[in-house]
Amino acid sequence: MQTLGKAIKPSVSKVIVIGGGIAGLTLARACLDANIEVEVYEKRQLDAMLSGPGGIFIQRNAIRVYQLLYLGKIYQRFYAQGGTIFKGAFSSKDGTPLYISSPKMADEEDLGVCLSRGELQQILYEALPSEIVHTDKTFEKFEETEDGVRVYFQDGSTTDGDILVGADGLYSRVRASLSGQQRLEEPVYSGMCCWRGLFNGSSLPLNKEYSWMELWGQGNRFGYFDVGRGQFSFYAFSNSEQGGNDDSVGGALNALNLIFSDYAEPVPSILKVLENESIYRDDIFDRQPLGNSWGKGRATLIGDAAHPVQPNLGQGGCMAIEDAFELVKLLANAASPDQIALLLRQFESSRSQRVTRVFTTSRQVGQLGQTNSAIGCLLRNWIYKLTPTWLADLQFKWLFDYQPSWKE
Ligand SMILES: Cc1cc2nc3c(=O)[nH]c(=O)nc-3n(C[C@H](O)[C@H](O)[C@H](O)COP(=O)(O)OP(=O)(O)OC[C@H]3O[C@@H](n4cnc5c(N)ncnc54)[C@H](O)[C@@H]3O)c2cc1C
Repeated sequence: MQTLGKAIKPSVSKVIVIGGGIAGLTLARACLDANIEVEVYEKRQLDAMLSGPGGIFIQRNAIRVYQLLYLGKIYQRFYAQGGTIFKGAFSSKDGTPLYISSPKMADEEDLGVCLSRGELQQILYEALPSEIVHTDKTFEKFEETEDGVRVYFQDGSTTDGDILVGADGLYSRVRASLSGQQRLEEPVYSGMCCWRGLFNGSSLPLNKEYSWMELWGQGNRFGYFDVGRGQFSFYAFSNSEQGGNDDSVGGALNALNLIFSDYAEPVPSILKVLENESIYRDDIFDRQPLGNSWGKGRATLIGDAAHPVQPNLGQGGCMAIEDAFELVKLLANAASPDQIALLLRQFESSRSQRVTRVFTTSRQVGQLGQTNSAIGCLLRNWIYKLTPTWLADLQFKWLFDYQPSWKE
C-alpha cells in the first residue's frame, strides 16, 4: 500500500472545504493523509448528509484513489459492504445483449464497486475524525486576506484558512462568489429525467452472473446494479420536459410502469417490488466545461462544483474523487506559500482535458441511449451488436487507465 511516505510539513497548513459530498469528504481524508489540517463545512444536517437516492458506481479509476488513502481502509470497507463490479451488459429492451463488459479487463483487486449512496457517505464520514466535519453550516461568501482566506457563513460565523475549496456541487455558491454573483446561472438541462432508488433483489429473477445491466428502449433506459448484501439500485431515464413530475399519473411508480412495463425481465419484476414513496425523481443537468481555469487566487473548485456531467458514464463522482486526490498531491508538494495560487491553477489545468472529455463522452452516450426515433434505435442497437467487445473496451481505455500515485 503506497503512502505519502515522507514526514513533511506542507506549506499549506489549513484547507477550508465547502460541501460534505463525495468530493469534500474524500479531499478531507487526503489532506489528513498529507499532514494538512482541514475543516469541512456542509449545509445539511448530518443525517441528510449521510443519505442519498439509490446507488453509485465507484469505477476502477476512482477506486485506486482509495487504495492509497487512509491505509486502504476505505477501499476495504467498500469491498466488504458494496457490490464488486464484475460482468455487466447493455441490451435492447427485449433483452438482446448489445455489449457485454469483460471482467478480464482488470484483475480482481482492481475492480470497481457499487454502493448505496448512504453507505458511501457513511464510510467516507467515518474515515474522518468527527470534529472535522461541521454540518448545518451554509457558506455565504469569502474574501482573501493577506495570507489566506476568510469564509463567512449564513449564521454569521467565520473561519480562516490558507485555501478555500468549493466542493459544493451543481449549484456551487463558492463558484458563484468567485465571479461576484449571488447565485450561479442555471445549468444545462439534458432533456431527460431520472428515477432512482434501492430494492431487495433476493427474490427476483436477476441473472446473478451480472453485476449490472442496462436495457435500452426508445427515448428511455432502465438500469440496475448490485450494491451489496442483497440490495440493488435501479435508475430509469426518460426524455421529458424540464420540471416535470408524476402527479398527473398518480406517482412515480405509475409513471415507471407506464414507460417500462413492456421491457424484458427482470424489469417488470423489479417494478413490482418498488415502493412509490422510496422512488426519487430529478431532472438531469450538466454545465459547459470551464476550460483551464476554475478558481481564483487561493480558491479553487472540485467535483460537480467545477464540472458537473451527465450520469451516462457513471463518472461524475469518480472525477470528483480523482480531483480530490490530485489537488492534495500538489498541495503536499508545495515548496513555499507564495506558490499556492499558482499551484491551484496548475491543478485546474492539469484536470481540464480529462474532465472535458468525460463531459463530452457522457453527452454522446446519453444521446445514443436516449435515441427517440425507431430507426435511430434500430441503427444504434445494430452498431452496438456488431462492435467487437475489445473495440468497445478500447474506446474507454483512457478513462480506466488513471493510476493515482503520491509520487511526484
Ligand atoms: C442519476 C445520477 C446517477 C449518477 N451515478 C453516478 C455513478 O454511478 N458514478 C459516479 O461516479 N457518479 C455518478 N453520478 C454523479 C455524482 O452523483 C456526482 O458527480 C457527485 O455526487 C458529485 O459529488 P460532489 O461532492 O462534487 O457534489 P455533491 O454530491 O452535490 O455534494 C455537494 C455538497 O455540498 C453541499 N452544499 C451545497 N451548497 C452548500 C453551501 N452553500 N454551504 C455548505 N454546503 C453546501 C451539499 O449539501 C452537498 O452535500 C450520478 C449522478 C446522477 C444525477
